[in-house]
Amino acid sequence: MAQPAVEDTPTGNDRPRPTFTSTDPRTGEFVGSHPVHNAAEVNGRVAVARIAATWWGGIGFAERKARLDTWRRVISRRVEDLVTLMSAETGKPADDARLELVLVIRHLHWAAGNAERVLHRRGVRAGLLMSNQLATLEYRPLGVIGVIGPWNYPAFTPMGSIAYALAAGNAVVFKPSEYTPGVGTWLANTFAEVVPEHPVLSVVTGAGETGAALCRSGVDKIAFTGSTETAKRVMAACAETLTPVLMECGGKDAFIVDSDADVAAAADAAVWGAMANAGQTCAGVERVYVVDSLADEFVGLVTDRARALRVGAHPGADLGPMTMPEQVDVVRSHIADALARGGQAVVGGLESVRSPYVEPVVLVDVPEDSLAVTEETFGPTMVINRVRDADEAVDRANASRYALGAAVFARARGAELAGKLRAGMVSVNSVLSYAAVPALPFGGSGDSGFGRIHGEDGLREFAKVQSVTRQRYRPLLRAMTFARGGRTVRKLLRLVRLRYGR
Ligand code: NDP
Repeated sequence: MAQPAVEDTPTGNDRPRPTFTSTDPRTGEFVGSHPVHNAAEVNGRVAVARIAATWWGGIGFAERKARLDTWRRVISRRVEDLVTLMSAETGKPADDARLELVLVIRHLHWAAGNAERVLHRRGVRAGLLMSNQLATLEYRPLGVIGVIGPWNYPAFTPMGSIAYALAAGNAVVFKPSEYTPGVGTWLANTFAEVVPEHPVLSVVTGAGETGAALCRSGVDKIAFTGSTETAKRVMAACAETLTPVLMECGGKDAFIVDSDADVAAAADAAVWGAMANAGQTCAGVERVYVVDSLADEFVGLVTDRARALRVGAHPGADLGPMTMPEQVDVVRSHIADALARGGQAVVGGLESVRSPYVEPVVLVDVPEDSLAVTEETFGPTMVINRVRDADEAVDRANASRYALGAAVFARARGAELAGKLRAGMVSVNSVLSYAAVPALPFGGSGDSGFGRIHGEDGLREFAKVQSVTRQRYRPLLRAMTFARGGRTVRKLLRLVRLRYGR
């Protein structure tokens, strides 16, 4: 874990610069040392970024695309360096880090390739009443975006904002999690190699106070990804300066198995969706609702698959440790609460919690008001509850205050059930697939936040629209002048009633 410390690094004014270290959660070994940036330093970075933003916004879509494409190639070439760093800072298996970077590369490609099409100035129909006007709109960069990221997907998650904000013509000041400062720094350093002129992407490091300083620094938007509780603090800080926010928060995603589902495929997907990345996935599977007729077979298949998973630091491990030590207590408390309320553990149990590792835990028949069903667990655990039919599953899925992602396994009713879910993203007959389709917006509602990364919405999230009308000739009915005739407005109203009032 990150160890805040004061080390004697000269700063030029004889005061030691506070630094902190990131460590490997698997071994406790030192990974890197990073400065704790205070409010004055954060403000300084934002001021420099503002100059960079003017330059970057001015070079145009084609040049930005060329630079972002070059950055993508640099990341692709050096992918194994980043994999090693990501594994060291989070403890995740190398293949989990590789999978994350597959998504990073794909999204960077899409954002760079589509920014001009989505954001460029284009004409819109002015309509009958305003037919004397040429109407155009354009999505222009906001300026400087503050990105605050979590540790669980330290590259993919912040890049959902960073890549799209940069492609839209903004500069970015990124505050990575205190657990993954090295990954954030690596991204900014490689970007600086392809954009050496200005610090268009820069990093500030430190703990929550550094993030709070970024919220108050006068950036033009904060793109936050993290827990719902921190999101509320970020919004409160941003409210002081009316800084707009994009909130990507936690989830309690449901996975529905209907009676005609391919049960083996559903079990496979549920186990991966719940356990991959040691369950530390915002849109991971946390609650499964399976119809009675398939429940026994489904639970049996899930049990076999979950028991076969290998947990540890060795190269063949399927799951690594919990990255954040405090999360181990949360996972333990959810399992204990579920068992105390009558739930059954068919895989593992309280003994599965061996900090920093948690072995897979599968709980069945857990009351809907227990912590394991209502709160984000964020560990390699899964609750499976039986339901009468898929409609009851939808009702239970929608009862959560979170609404991020969901999955449905069904043959006949897949699309219909997806449409009934309150989730922002649904995958039918797979899990988490939407995250890998760059054109699809990603985000939720309720306690899962608001706003969208990815896709066209994700580009527009980092832009302000400017609407322009250009008069081509004088209007036939001149209503918007004090020099209008006495009956002009009445004539106009008659026209409107004829055209639109019937
Ligand atoms: P946290 O909310 O603890 O932290 C998120 C970021 O906010 C970190 O960089 C953190 O810094 C920073 N921060 C902490 N306090 C403040 C503050 N007062 N002002 C500004 N910034 C602050 O989340 P985690 O890092 O633990 O990430 C896990 C959470 O993220 C889970 O709830 C998960 O569901 C969610 N998540 C959501 C995703 C989505 O797309 N919806 C994707 C991935 C994760 P520091 O770490 O230094 O304290």
